[in-house]
Amino acid sequence: MSGSPSKVATKARLRIEVKGIVQGVGFRPFVYRLARNLQLNGWVRNTSGNVAIEVEGPEEGVSQFPALLKEKAPPAARVQEVTTRKLPAKGESGFAIRKSQAEPGKYQPVSPDLATCPECLAEVFEPQNHRYLYPFTNCTNCGPRFTIIRDIPYDRPLTTMSRFTMCPECQAEYDDPLDRRFHAQPNACPKCGPSLQLTDLDGALLPGADPLREAADLLLQGYIVAVKGLGGFQLACDATNQKAVARLRERKRRPGKPLALMMASIAEIEKHCYVSPEEAELLLSPNAPIVLLKWRKDISNVTPLVAENNKYLGVMLPYTPLHHILLRYAARPLVMTSGNLSEEPICQDNDEALRRLHGIADYFLLHNRDIHARYDDSVYLVERDTARAIRRARGYAPSPIRLPFRARQVLACGAEEKNTFCLTRDEYAFLSQHIGDMDNEETVEHFENTIDLYQRLFRVQPEALAHDLHPEYLSAKYALKYAAENGLKTIGIQHHHAHIVSCLVENNFREPAIGVAFDGVGYGSDGNLWGGEFLVGDWGSFERAAHLEYVPMPGGVAAIRKPYRMALGYIYSLLGPETPLDDLPIMSKIPAAEADIIKAQLERRLNSPLTSGAGRLFDAVSALAGVRGQVDYEAQAAIELEMLAPDDVAHFEPYPFAISGDEKPAVVKLKELISAVVKDVRNGVKPGLISARFHLTVARIILETCCLISRQSGRKTVALSGGVFQNRLLFHLAIDALEREGFQVLSHRVVPCNDGGISLGQAAIANQQINEGKE
Ligand SMILES: [Zn+2]
Ligand SMILES: [Zn+2]
Repeated sequence: MSGSPSKVATKARLRIEVKGIVQGVGFRPFVYRLARNLQLNGWVRNTSGNVAIEVEGPEEGVSQFPALLKEKAPPAARVQEVTTRKLPAKGESGFAIRKSQAEPGKYQPVSPDLATCPECLAEVFEPQNHRYLYPFTNCTNCGPRFTIIRDIPYDRPLTTMSRFTMCPECQAEYDDPLDRRFHAQPNACPKCGPSLQLTDLDGALLPGADPLREAADLLLQGYIVAVKGLGGFQLACDATNQKAVARLRERKRRPGKPLALMMASIAEIEKHCYVSPEEAELLLSPNAPIVLLKWRKDISNVTPLVAENNKYLGVMLPYTPLHHILLRYAARPLVMTSGNLSEEPICQDNDEALRRLHGIADYFLLHNRDIHARYDDSVYLVERDTARAIRRARGYAPSPIRLPFRARQVLACGAEEKNTFCLTRDEYAFLSQHIGDMDNEETVEHFENTIDLYQRLFRVQPEALAHDLHPEYLSAKYALKYAAENGLKTIGIQHHHAHIVSCLVENNFREPAIGVAFDGVGYGSDGNLWGGEFLVGDWGSFERAAHLEYVPMPGGVAAIRKPYRMALGYIYSLLGPETPLDDLPIMSKIPAAEADIIKAQLERRLNSPLTSGAGRLFDAVSALAGVRGQVDYEAQAAIELEMLAPDDVAHFEPYPFAISGDEKPAVVKLKELISAVVKDVRNGVKPGLISARFHLTVARIILETCCLISRQSGRKTVALSGGVFQNRLLFHLAIDALEREGFQVLSHRVVPCNDGGISLGQAAIANQQINEGKE
């Protein structure tokens, strides 16, 4: 040492608490490395409620530290809050990762399952690596989380990995704070981790050394293979093999609904679809959802049977090493659809899959890591450069949605179709993964089990239950029963109010707004089936300001499956019973006896509930234009009508309509619209052109009705919600028109605009009503 006087820097010490998704995502090793880089001493520890840190060292490093925690956090972490407190320096040396500390009653947001990270992927395809081609490779940045966790804290004994004992090499990685696998609970290798089996449809093991290679060979030969993935089984087949896809559709009893595809890489996807930078980013994200991409039918060899009459393909990238290896072997796009029959929940256990998928799959690719939570693939689309959820499940749930208020403990039970539920506490809304359509016993059981799991993981004991007003919804019946058994309050919430508030909540908009809720049908406060609604409301209450004209739905739900019934309902009630029909092409598609029944139902108002549903209007126009008179999946008639419209519709003329503003609520009169469509059909106008004019009309209806309501209410903000806004053409036209008139438009990103978002709205309204003392 030289003789110059040594400078003593001022030492500082800070206590830091970090909230968010910060456990099971490599956060402590990151803190450890960050502290060492800045030459700070201290410790880090997981608690049940957060991550606690103390750092000590030179003033400058200590003061930078909290911001860097947020900025440089590992990819899977979601840092929501960093709080700091100054402490006196103690002269501590070294940095320690301390033993976890459990605090009773505390809980932690749980990370969703995350797609294989680039480092793990490189190892899987590196021949010298001991994890070469190992399908269960993972680390703290990737792999299963939510699907294997039974309870918190998230530690191996409380996951379905508890049955696998780590080998010394894996244990060494697990114990080394500088290793990517430090405390990676699902850590595994070929020596000690889960393994694959390939069986025939009776569960008999097939001989052979490499189940994945053989499964790929079977797929190339045209067989259907059930693949046990992350959150359940998938049914796979060769997407370029028309016969294989046809067989899968027939066996799964899914004749028309588009099937999801998996492709090996972005470069591979570009051989079939257009991919924008935003879409590529979404596909490559750790969430790795299915993304609806514009299909390049000019160059793609995917069989049209995958998504008939559709411009888009639902495509995802492989998200586990198992999928990566399978796709590499198959070297072509694979259909990868939920392993279930029609609308039942996705299969979860080996025995269950062999039983329920018997006769659907020819072979089963099984493994011995149990799935604790069913978890479908998420579906997204990118519209107006923004990723928007259509189905929120794998990769997203159970990440909480942060609420801009302190919530009570409430369970909102959601809607009937595309059900999700939502639990609130503190500043969080725990929105469940997509549960499904609550019309079969298996789905209801899945709903109840998942509620139990969320209540356990997030320590929620609801004081009140929120439910839809529809008396026949199984989710509403569940809420009433649960509340009665436990002596809790129930709060009934109107379907479209919940839609609009779900949009207001995710946009953190607290003022009253004009809500445009367009969907199929939902139970209205007047007992009619609403669905073309203009509300003015906030988180607590609403007023119905306007709606589409009521028309009868001949045959009730039968009219949903048969859009031609809706077409007759519109003609009969708006144009009059004497309107000649025989020259309309639609009549040739209706069996004569059924046509008589429909007319009788309309004449005598038998089993013909009134509806203002926008989805029903789309159905009627689709049927009238000769696009689709019967559907085999939800919204098929509307989707096929949308797909026929030319890309640029701006220069077409909208159809006429009228708004009767004297009535309260105002009514959008559709007589002229239906009359003009009928006239176009009679004149032989092409369906694509009718579609273009119709979409422009609906956008104009939205604009003019909002202008009227704005003049009356003074509101200039419009929230768009409801499943009809999955229609990209309408969504686009409506926002353009509203923004041109100076409206601020709120739309969905985080939660689906369809009924999958309803439970968030219900939960927020219930909280507001409890706080206002209305309940
Ligand atoms: Zn990894
Ligand atoms: Zn091992």
